[in-house]
Amino acid sequence: MEQTLVILKPSCVARGLMGNVISRIENKGIIITAMKMMQLDEKILREHYAHLVDRPFFPELAASMMATPVLCLVLKGVDVVNVFRKMTGVTNGRKAEPGTIRGDLSMSGQANIVHASDSVENAKIEISRFFRPDEIMDYTPANLGFLYSEDDLNA
Ligand code: UDP
Ligand code: MG
Repeated sequence: MEQTLVILKPSCVARGLMGNVISRIENKGIIITAMKMMQLDEKILREHYAHLVDRPFFPELAASMMATPVLCLVLKGVDVVNVFRKMTGVTNGRKAEPGTIRGDLSMSGQANIVHASDSVENAKIEISRFFRPDEIMDYTPANLGFLYSEDDLNA
């Protein structure tokens, strides 16, 4: 099964929305294999947002990501990178579809509640950026047979 890296941003933590987002993950049947609060710093943000470091909004973005601790999670599931990106919605909360995390919980293009890896390749890099291997609990939940059919698992 795939894994993906999710960060509940300060806009989520400070507004008391961690439980809301975690409930969506659990209700969907996505398996949480790691969860850790972290205070991010400039160094890790320059790596994590390397594609945005030269953009004029980067200083404000970095400050917004350091405003409170964040909650980092590793999620596991079949096709979970794409599934969770769809649940996240497009970047700007005002444009994100209702029903998505950003569409339901954010009015901002920056304070948009969650980060989610955008490809399997990037998920691997991002998971290793935020977690040591021994922090990831790669367990099989007892209800797996009610989350997936054999066909799903062999897809
Ligand atoms: N961002 C921003 N202004 C922009 C574009 C992005 O502040 O014009 C922030 C926003 O918080 C976004 C993050 O930078 O979630 C990463 O941008 P990316 O384009 O990777 O969007 P995402 O993958 O988070 O949808
Ligand atoms: Mg991105």
